[in-house]
Amino acid sequence: MAPHSKESSTQETKEEFFEEKTEELNQKRETALKNNKIIIYITILALTYYHLAGFYGLYLTFKSVKWATIGLGFLLYFIGILGVTAGAHRLWSHKSYKAKLPLQIILMLFQSVAFQKSKTVQSWVRDHRLHHKFSDTDGDPHNANRGFFFSHMGWLISVKTDEVIKGEKSIDISDIINNPVLRFQKKYAFYVIGICCFVLPTAIPMYFWGETFNNAWHFNFLRFLLSLHMVFCINSVAHKWGYKPYDKNILPAENAFFSFAVLGEGFHNYHHCFPWDYQTSELGNKALNFTTWFIDFCAGIGWAYDLKTASEEVVKSRADRTGDGKFRVQ
Ligand SMILES: [Zn+2]
Ligand SMILES: [Zn+2]
Repeated sequence: MAPHSKESSTQETKEEFFEEKTEELNQKRETALKNNKIIIYITILALTYYHLAGFYGLYLTFKSVKWATIGLGFLLYFIGILGVTAGAHRLWSHKSYKAKLPLQIILMLFQSVAFQKSKTVQSWVRDHRLHHKFSDTDGDPHNANRGFFFSHMGWLISVKTDEVIKGEKSIDISDIINNPVLRFQKKYAFYVIGICCFVLPTAIPMYFWGETFNNAWHFNFLRFLLSLHMVFCINSVAHKWGYKPYDKNILPAENAFFSFAVLGEGFHNYHHCFPWDYQTSELGNKALNFTTWFIDFCAGIGWAYDLKTASEEVVKSRADRTGDGKFRVQ
């Protein structure tokens, strides 16, 4: 009898252990969901304000915003997008080139000007690496198969799927977490992003050419909103319309017109096939790719190095194998 009762008591202890574990996991999941919902409500409020302020800024543009303020807005749009494309995307997400410290600091500040979807470079990179690893499946945070609006901005105000939560734990972003420039941005995010994205763009026009606070503040929101939507378009528009010269079996497509607005990120079919290429476009296609000019310039002065690119043979053989026949390399 003795061994039997020992066995049954071990069995009970095991069951208790698993029950406790399950309860603990359920509690953790509930807390995570609660936190996720709170973030979603805050994001809805923030996005509503961005849009109201941006559209009011558009109205003021036709009414009373000074030309100098509009010029500064264009410059800041350009700088912010560059921080996302050359920095968060090509440098930090894909490691398609290496950057010396001064360039890293500049790109971190530029990315702060764009203040993408309330995120620092670190969370941007985590989401983007997930996007490439599980492209257009439930593990992709902005899965384009869930519709245009979801991939554009709906994902920011939706509860994460279990696959995304699991993916976030599996993805390696140790290089980003240990990067001192990005650690600084995360630690002082409130000040760095606040100053770069809102305080300076409002204060400069007021101080230097006497713009009103109302005009400077709301016009800056128009600039900010525009850059936000243009980057969102990479996940929505570039996953819906365009040619697929390199892989016709995936959603990402080539969209030259849109590429101009996002400084060269619209060659998305190519990018999903060759994500390590610093040009994110086929050979020589630099006309609409200002980010590539910028990286080439930085390489010229020694700030960027180890630029990676796919060879013509590799690109051509991929296009022959899986492309839609619209391959354009001369
Ligand atoms: Zn994509
Ligand atoms: Zn990418």
